[in-house]
Amino acid sequence: MPRCRHCKKEAIVFKHWFWMCKEHFLTYYLNRVKRVLDKFDLKDKRLLVAVSWGKDSQALLDVMAELKPHYGYYLEWLFIKLWVGDACSIQSGFGVVDEEIGRGFNKFCRSAYESIMEIANKHSIKISVVDLEREYGHSVPELAAKWWKACSVCGTSKRYVMNRFARENNFDIILTWHNLTDLVIFANLNIVASKYDEVLNVASYWLPWNKDLKLVGKLKPQFRLEEEDNELYCSLKWINYVSSSISCPLNDKKSTHNIFETYVKDLEKKYNYSYHFMKSLRKTLNFDNLVSKWEAKFCKKCWYLTNSSDGICRFCKIMNFKNEKISPKTRLW
Ligand SMILES: [Zn+2]
Ligand SMILES: [Zn+2]
Repeated sequence: MPRCRHCKKEAIVFKHWFWMCKEHFLTYYLNRVKRVLDKFDLKDKRLLVAVSWGKDSQALLDVMAELKPHYGYYLEWLFIKLWVGDACSIQSGFGVVDEEIGRGFNKFCRSAYESIMEIANKHSIKISVVDLEREYGHSVPELAAKWWKACSVCGTSKRYVMNRFARENNFDIILTWHNLTDLVIFANLNIVASKYDEVLNVASYWLPWNKDLKLVGKLKPQFRLEEEDNELYCSLKWINYVSSSISCPLNDKKSTHNIFETYVKDLEKKYNYSYHFMKSLRKTLNFDNLVSKWEAKFCKKCWYLTNSSDGICRFCKIMNFKNEKISPKTRLW
């Protein structure tokens, strides 16, 4: 039976060449988060946890609540409600999403919402909800049932809503749920697509404030933790978590992202790949170029930042699709 390298108790996990027991794994987890947070003065800062669903978000909310007394920040959770009403009533539109998948999506989001709610209640964290359908007109399954790709709609909506909510409610920092495994997958995808600005964003744990560009600073506290660390953290803390084997019903299983995910996770297990990849990638990048390359161009509808040539941001395009003259057969990407 393997033994913990620190205390010689029974070990439960092998990390970075060493075996660890339950207690020392939890200490390791906290220390990895602290290594990111210690770079900032967080005393009295207003932090917004923008959780999505799944174990990464649940672990993030829990660990940030645990560390609150140590750093003295204010913490609030923003939940973006993406599903349709209470019952599912999607018109199947062009047939991309059928009713069964739509109902599955509602069920998936609701169970994630309820388990995150348990953590928020346990730590008495204030919750704010932005209902996409009520406030902006459309839910994710409804948009996916038209001609937008579900993951693209979901990602664009979450990024837009969290920045806007944080800015309009005077938050200093948005905390996002990205872990090392996710970031290495995104870095690989962006390198292949030659999107080097994106690689820079992915390889940084901090995207700074830019008041002129209306961007709130974003921090990734789980930057040094792998996906399996979050899953283990949740199971050890008895958090009723959404397992990585359950994925969003709208997720396209054959997407390039999913192919890269399988390959990165396999290499991560065998060769500690994510750790080595990120370490050598960061050595090659110049982080002084973060954000500053953006030209200040604002959307004609909402006055938030866009780089689109027609002056309408992607979020406004998605939400106003009924007013745009786009043929239903034309997929935008
Ligand atoms: Zn130990
Ligand atoms: Zn806009």
